[in-house]
Amino acid sequence: MIGVCDAKNILNKYSFNKTNYIDIYDSYGKVLAKDIISTTDIPFFNKSDKDGYAVVDLNLKYYTLIDEVLAGDMRNLKIKNDECVHVATGAKVPDGANYVIPIEYVEKLGNEIRLVEDIEETNIIKIGDDIKKNNEVLRKGDIINERNIGIIASLGIEKIKVYETPKVGIISTGNELHSIKDVNSKTIFSIVKKSNCQPIFIGSAKDDIDDLKSKINKALEHCDVIITSGGVSAGKKDYLPRVVSDMGKIIFHKVKMRPGMPMLFGEINEKPIFCMPGNVTSCLTCSYVFLLPFLKKLAHVPFSKEVVKAHLSEDIPSEYGMTYYRPVKLKNGVAYPTFKGSNLITSIAYADGLIEIKEDETLKNKDDIVDVWVFD
Ligand code: AMP
Ligand code: MG
Repeated sequence: MIGVCDAKNILNKYSFNKTNYIDIYDSYGKVLAKDIISTTDIPFFNKSDKDGYAVVDLNLKYYTLIDEVLAGDMRNLKIKNDECVHVATGAKVPDGANYVIPIEYVEKLGNEIRLVEDIEETNIIKIGDDIKKNNEVLRKGDIINERNIGIIASLGIEKIKVYETPKVGIISTGNELHSIKDVNSKTIFSIVKKSNCQPIFIGSAKDDIDDLKSKINKALEHCDVIITSGGVSAGKKDYLPRVVSDMGKIIFHKVKMRPGMPMLFGEINEKPIFCMPGNVTSCLTCSYVFLLPFLKKLAHVPFSKEVVKAHLSEDIPSEYGMTYYRPVKLKNGVAYPTFKGSNLITSIAYADGLIEIKEDETLKNKDDIVDVWVFD
């Protein structure tokens, strides 16, 4: 049996660094695998911020209108001191112009424009005001979202180098799954999604060595990580330890924790395989403790725990040498344990977070202040 910390340390050594180029339209939520350096100034021309009249000097008050520039018109117009050019919002401002007088600030008489009110701003967005050329505008590891994608779009980049999303194959096991509902594949599927990885449900396998091997082989074909549930303890039909050692190697089996003790971790063809316990709350607890940080690391997204302090509503006994995880419901700063048994999904389904009772403790007392890892 391995301690929780040692198990986490082993898992922490894994990474996944495959990259690919994807279309910007497919990039939301992906992680940049390369810094993005601006190859141009944005805007790359002096651009009007208003509909108005571009002028050289504000002191003249009267200007002769000589031309009109709409957005997209890239002509290099020049103006003299006593002239003005009508410019639309977003249009290129003529060379030499220092101000755009908004249309509300002028009177127009034929071809003559008169400034009737003082303006406070230039109303010109200068070359490079938004993004300067040769700057590191986004960093490797940044996650593409609805805001920073605009920077990539502004620079005209259409193909982006990102880390490949790890594909995670999920297999549930147990002859009983034709009569009881398969819960674990759905909870694991959700944890995989929460970790920014791509879940693929391979199917449920019978408690049969050949069937288990054939489902695992199918997962190996398509996936980077494999997760099974059930069939990993000491029962007659618990074949996964044997299957994993036949096909690859067991790295650890049985963790000093409750619930979740039977968990196994191994490698087959250099791909990590997690065999989660069949009991639904054990499976989900192990998923929070081990899978979530593991998969997030592979996906290159940060893992962080939000922890709040709360008073415990009742004693929780635990066992020396075992880490205990107990789901709790939070209300007004009090943590109410919700655990009813490892095989009941409502032990954890309504909980707000988990408390951890370390290996060297044997009890948390009523009214103790405990750290609650809050689910997000
Ligand atoms: P096992 O570890 O295979 O002995 O399973 C332990 C318990 O979890 C048994 O009661 C199983 O019926 C149950 N179980 C196993 N896999 C699942 C699953 N995918 N969904 C719901 N319950 C399961
Ligand atoms: Mg089973």
